[in-house]
Amino acid sequence: MKILIADDEPVSRHMLRGFLVKWGYEVITAEDGNAAWEHLKSPDAPRMALLDWMMPGQNGVDVCREMRKVRPAPYTYILLLTAKDAKESVVEGLESGADDYLTKPFHPAELRARIRVGLRLLDLEDSLVQAREAMRFKATHDALTGVWNRGAIMEMLEREVNRSAREGASLGVLIADLDHFKSVNDTYGHLAGDRVLCEATGRMQADIRTYDAIGRYGGEEFLILLSGCSRSKAAENAERLRDALLRRPVETDAGPLKITLSIGGVATGDWPDYNAGQILHLADSALYRAKEEGRNRVVIAGTAELEEAMRASLELSSHGPKDR
Ligand code: GH3
Ligand code: MG
Ligand code: MG
Repeated sequence: MKILIADDEPVSRHMLRGFLVKWGYEVITAEDGNAAWEHLKSPDAPRMALLDWMMPGQNGVDVCREMRKVRPAPYTYILLLTAKDAKESVVEGLESGADDYLTKPFHPAELRARIRVGLRLLDLEDSLVQAREAMRFKATHDALTGVWNRGAIMEMLEREVNRSAREGASLGVLIADLDHFKSVNDTYGHLAGDRVLCEATGRMQADIRTYDAIGRYGGEEFLILLSGCSRSKAAENAERLRDALLRRPVETDAGPLKITLSIGGVATGDWPDYNAGQILHLADSALYRAKEEGRNRVVIAGTAELEEAMRASLELSSHGPKDR
């Protein structure tokens, strides 16, 4: 653990450093409040600071106030060390945002114990942050494959479709569906099926760029968002994804399995007025056509999907409200 000591008196600084190093801490020092503040706002800032109150420039209390205003994460534990021992000073020091207060001259054993109190608090914060991160990951990721889950990828779709429309860009939206996957389960068992799902997502994820996204849309269906992709680029990317699976069989406990993908896609630039739901519908229709035409292929939505969409909306509008 790295601890910052800020004190303008060299003797005091030296003595404190000696104790802390003896107790096994890594130490950095600052000669005044301004230097302390620079350390505390740096990217690899120490998590704990022992600040003298009276220093030239910003004093210890000023630094505390500044820290609590900015609230950098993770939390910085601050112990004020000062000769000011009046009750009002203690109160003012703590009110400024210090976590603890020790008057000089202090007893080394007491300082050591108070540092440990601070470390316990920082540990507690770390475990809470870890738990929160783990929960956040679980809430947004698919447990089997580790890619975005349906909720997360649908939210991204909505956001990215809107963003692309705003910026006059084109988003590539693909739905990739494993071919005859049911028969993989039926023939080789559910575990082999799971293995295929993981391998397929792994290969697709390795193939897309870091700013693209892949999520599990359904059982063996994946939604892939390709930013800045026109129709031809979307088709090119989809072919590469298809090939990534086709290229070599998936190794499972039941042996190597040859798996293929059908992909339905759409480039939002071709359909500037369509919302996320309508875009998804087009990709779904294109996927349907890829299946119909024999599987293991890519279809990007075009006039056939538009006609289908128009027919569907006509059918919908020809029914009265009571029929819906
Ligand atoms: P098609 O080529 O038309 O896409 O046929 P298909 O067999 O791939 O499609 P279908 O929708 O008939 O079957 C999908 C299967 O995916 C059925 C379901 O049991 C299986 N499945 C869904 N989720 C999981 C999973 O998490 N693990 C495994 N092993 N199988 C799953
Ligand atoms: Mg001083
Ligand atoms: Mg399938």
